[in-house]
Amino acid sequence: MKRIAVVGGGVAGMTAALRLAEAGHEVDLFEAAPALGGRTKSFYDEEVDEWVDNGPHAMVGAYHSTLKLLQDIDATQYVNWQSSLTLSLWDKARGFFDLKAVSWLPVNIALIWAVYRLPGHDVSSVKAMLRLAMTMHNRNEEQTVQQWMDEIKAPERLVEDMLEVLCLGVMNEPMNTAKAKTFALVLALSFSSHRNAKMGWFNKPLSQALVAPLADKLRALDVNIELRSSIRSLDELNHDSIVLALPAFARNRLLGIKEGVATQSITNIHLWFEDKVELPNLMQGMLDTYGQWLFDVSAMMNQENKLQHLCVIVSADESDKTQDELVTLVLSEIETMLDVKLPQPQKVRFIREKRATVLVREQKGVDLPGHVFDVGEAPQIGELPATIELAVLLGEKAAQMVHLSHENSA
Ligand SMILES: Cc1cc2nc3c(=O)[nH]c(=O)nc-3n(C[C@H](O)[C@H](O)[C@H](O)COP(=O)(O)OP(=O)(O)OC[C@H]3O[C@@H](n4cnc5c(N)ncnc54)[C@H](O)[C@@H]3O)c2cc1C
Repeated sequence: MKRIAVVGGGVAGMTAALRLAEAGHEVDLFEAAPALGGRTKSFYDEEVDEWVDNGPHAMVGAYHSTLKLLQDIDATQYVNWQSSLTLSLWDKARGFFDLKAVSWLPVNIALIWAVYRLPGHDVSSVKAMLRLAMTMHNRNEEQTVQQWMDEIKAPERLVEDMLEVLCLGVMNEPMNTAKAKTFALVLALSFSSHRNAKMGWFNKPLSQALVAPLADKLRALDVNIELRSSIRSLDELNHDSIVLALPAFARNRLLGIKEGVATQSITNIHLWFEDKVELPNLMQGMLDTYGQWLFDVSAMMNQENKLQHLCVIVSADESDKTQDELVTLVLSEIETMLDVKLPQPQKVRFIREKRATVLVREQKGVDLPGHVFDVGEAPQIGELPATIELAVLLGEKAAQMVHLSHENSA
């Protein structure tokens, strides 16, 4: 048994601590904030009497490590899944339409059929989908998603209705800078089976659905959790091994490295209404608008006796408008979409996470002593983008690295 310090109490750090404690090590978990969770965080809002996530988190069935983790912490009941992939979309010209992969066809054929059936698409979209599939496995490191789409001559409509939506959603980056090699990996993984392609969402706030079950397991395994403990130097820790489960910018801060790290923001505009706003879908994609997704949080979480909570999500948000202007804008976009006059929201909460994700880039490694393992979010080109799944995988990797190093030194 070794003494291990895990720095960072987000999903990556909690997963690392869990797997290390399961392997019989004595683990100290250090978290700078007053609560565990990191970017999967919720806070209690007294005014609406509700636990509110900084932003709703969606998943896909291809998050296999996350699913295994949820099983291990007895939390699978907190995620609801589509029966097969459906993207419910809207634009001003065509109204509401669904990209729906029917489950009775093999997933790749179902997707091509789904695209063909979208309003405004024809055989040119089908051909482009085939070219996309055929070119997935040989993307180079420099190429952007936009360049890939130009190369396969993807029709504008296919890009707008599907590829741009997916690129923003999974990579949190516009197509003109997002890396094609990672996007190709995500498409290949997600569209390899119906099970992988379908989307899932938490039916309880993240604090209850993910963080509390993880924290309970950690306590049951005697992990020592130190909240409000910001580690400022490795010299503060005298453990056999140290795991750094921090996004690259926080790791650099701890190590005194001045170099910047490319990150991207996500904006969430939470809206609460007294009178019910009827929405056709739980997760509504919006095209050609500032708001990209409208989530009916109350319906997702089955909260019937409260104000209705909606959340507008904007990935890779680079708008320089004021918060008030953006709230007015999304309210008018929802009115146009639903063709109704919305009641005045009882409450609005504008949350922009400036460093929501570390972008996929060629990431420089850092020199560390042999007993320190860096598993923070710093996705390389061709690896998964920053997601819950990446965080879980990094946590698992930390435990394996520590294990191997102890075996080698034994
Ligand atoms: C608004 C928003 C929406 C998102 N939506 C999705 C989604 O729909 N699907 C999806 O898969 N992913 C989504 N993500 C991404 C996902 O939340 C993150 O990729 C994941 O939670 C990262 O976990 P982590 O443990 O690697 O990092 P973090 O959660 O950042 O954890 C790092 C922890 O380290 C702590 N820390 C920092 N410095 C120190 C220090 N010196 N000492 C001690 N502790 C320190 C921090 O306080 C933090 O708690 C979203 C993120 C945001 C912000």
